[in-house]
Amino acid sequence: MQDSVQDSIFMKIIRREIPATIEYEDDDIIAIRDIQPIAPTHILIIPKTLIPTVNDLAEADAALLGRMVLVAQKLAKEKGIAENGYRLVINVNKDGGQTVFHLHLHLLGGRTLAFTM
Ligand code: AMP
Repeated sequence: MQDSVQDSIFMKIIRREIPATIEYEDDDIIAIRDIQPIAPTHILIIPKTLIPTVNDLAEADAALLGRMVLVAQKLAKEKGIAENGYRLVINVNKDGGQTVFHLHLHLLGGRTLAFTM
């Protein structure tokens, strides 16, 4: 099927059209292992609705974003990285290094992270 504007690689994962290792899922959020991890723990926390970037967030999305952070917190505890620490990152557009235009929160941990990714 042809990609529509409202589609993304993550929508295909949500619809189970392409495989991914799912670490968490509920009605609104999915969390998957990053296919090219840059840290021992590298998980993407993704809303099931396609919000392309942080620039597209609305007031009504505040609770969803909060829940994405809570999912990251839960996964960090489960993966045993909460105590040592971790990093949560959202890249935005070209200068931010965003490559998939479907909002996602990177959970990175399991090693000491330098200031730059
Ligand atoms: P960003 O550069 O912030 O847009 O991050 C996009 C992330 O998605 C990158 O870290 C990619 O490695 C990851 N990614 C792309 N395609 C897939 C996929 N099919 N399954 C899991 N992670 C993916």
